[in-house]
Amino acid sequence: MKKCYKCETKALVYLPQYRIAFCKEHYIEWYLRRLQHTIDEFKMFKKEDKILVAVSGGKDSLSLLDALYKLGYEVAGFHIYLGIGDYSEKSRVVCEEFAKKRSLKLYIIDISQYLASIPKIDELEKRPTCSFCGQIKRYYMNSFAKQNGYNVVATGHNLDDESTTLLLNILNWNIEYLIRQKPVLSEGEGFVRKVKPLLKFTEKENAIYALFSDINYIEEECPFSKNATSIHYKKILSLIEEKSPGTKLRFYLDFLRKLQPHLKEEKPKFMACTICGEPTVSQVCSFCKLKERLSKIL
Ligand code: SF4
Ligand code: ZN
Ligand code: ZN
Repeated sequence: MKKCYKCETKALVYLPQYRIAFCKEHYIEWYLRRLQHTIDEFKMFKKEDKILVAVSGGKDSLSLLDALYKLGYEVAGFHIYLGIGDYSEKSRVVCEEFAKKRSLKLYIIDISQYLASIPKIDELEKRPTCSFCGQIKRYYMNSFAKQNGYNVVATGHNLDDESTTLLLNILNWNIEYLIRQKPVLSEGEGFVRKVKPLLKFTEKENAIYALFSDINYIEEECPFSKNATSIHYKKILSLIEEKSPGTKLRFYLDFLRKLQPHLKEEKPKFMACTICGEPTVSQVCSFCKLKERLSKIL
């Protein structure tokens, strides 16, 4: 059995891509130090910023909120209740228990109070579920943060998510998406800053952090995620990673270092939505258009 790289006691974790092993205590220390380094490297936020962490109830977002809190940042959790049956119920409970245990502020909004539940919208919308669900979540994260005095929104996107999105964007040569695939999207024109501090951690590394930090999280996936095309590509990347540890990290970080800076962003002209005031490229934002479509049928 391997020994902890730091204290020489029996290691509980081995990270093949770095060829290091850790005991529980030194794994947490490594994780927090690496997170702090990522935040500083990409100039994500400072101690004086107010950060809203979007929490789904899964291992990534809850680990992020826990770790940022331990690092001394001013954070609060934000959970969007999507009304997806048992899955949403369990997710909400897990988030509430997590926040209560740490005396952390947690905001919850229930989208069925403003629009309708995701399964209800799914019956009426032709688009893939994750497409409108993602749009709704982004809308609320931005508007809620602004209304409540938070200048940064942090999400729990991990290395598996980011490298899979990158692979899909390259396979489809989706330049527009590649341009915007950044760890930090700056504030301005009605948007708060959006950051992805877990970009260097794999799903597995976040799960280990959650386990070692006594974070109770929901293990089941959203039932709609089964239809997402990304799952297939995620599996392919994980197979490559198994054969050559470190590939995911190199693939994504080299994209950020070598290609991203050369991609020129032509920002569209944003205006305030005439109905809700949120930034949009046409007079009425896509969220308000969806709301209007739904109001006619529901
Ligand atoms: Fe929404 Fe799709 Fe995520 Fe489920 S998997 S929460 S439907 S974006
Ligand atoms: Zn140790
Ligand atoms: Zn609007």
